[in-house]
Amino acid sequence: MARRKLIAGNWKMNGLRADGTALAADVAKRLKAVGQARYDMLVCPPFTLVPLVLDAVKGSGVDVGGQDCHMQMKGAHTGDTSAAMLKDLGCSHVIVGHSERRTNHGETDGIVKAKAEAALAAGLVAIVCIGETLEERDAGKTLEINRRQLLGSLPDGANAANTVVAYEPVWAIGTGRTATPEQAQEVHAMIRAELVGKLGQEIADGLRVLYGGSMNPKNAKELLALPDIDGGLIGGAALKADDFFAVAEGSPA
Ligand code: PEP
Repeated sequence: MARRKLIAGNWKMNGLRADGTALAADVAKRLKAVGQARYDMLVCPPFTLVPLVLDAVKGSGVDVGGQDCHMQMKGAHTGDTSAAMLKDLGCSHVIVGHSERRTNHGETDGIVKAKAEAALAAGLVAIVCIGETLEERDAGKTLEINRRQLLGSLPDGANAANTVVAYEPVWAIGTGRTATPEQAQEVHAMIRAELVGKLGQEIADGLRVLYGGSMNPKNAKELLALPDIDGGLIGGAALKADDFFAVAEGSPA
């Protein structure tokens, strides 16, 4: 089944109002110039920039998402943002379980699953991130770790319209080291097989599985051509509109 590619930018904790708005406007202008793009495009700015970015990309077809959400919709959670708040602003997606959240904020699979379920309940698409560390890969545990994270983090009620999985090997994020096509495809094929087992063939056939980890204009084409890679979650290269578009335009239909 043909799955439309999703090219998603994770800006992380980068951007003040001026440069964030300029980047968003640049991305929007370029997507408009492409016309009938063969891929979907999403940017996930820091929370402070979400309203400005939504404004800057209005009418361009660029979607806007959050980088994290709380598992509750409201309440006494100082400093947190709920999925309902992101939805209320106009976001369509939210990233949950990014390795930086898992590492820096102690997020377990159970927490990621609860956040993904909050996203679905708010009407957002949950982008559920999984990935092994270098130590886990070197110990031969890559498939086992990713299987455990996938099955532990997927929200109940996941389907092809409300959930995206992102495989992001931790050792490849922000390091300039990318998984080889063989390494990436091996994990993506396992993810697809597990999705079939959990959600059934039809849903698994339609659910997009992104690769993330130092994806850039040089390596994207080969990765995006692999049968089970349905787009990219892009950090560093998403901060330059040239690179972000070079990745997107390198993707096959
Ligand atoms: C990410 O943060 O999701 C990511 C993949 O970052 P980078 O592309 O910079 O490795």
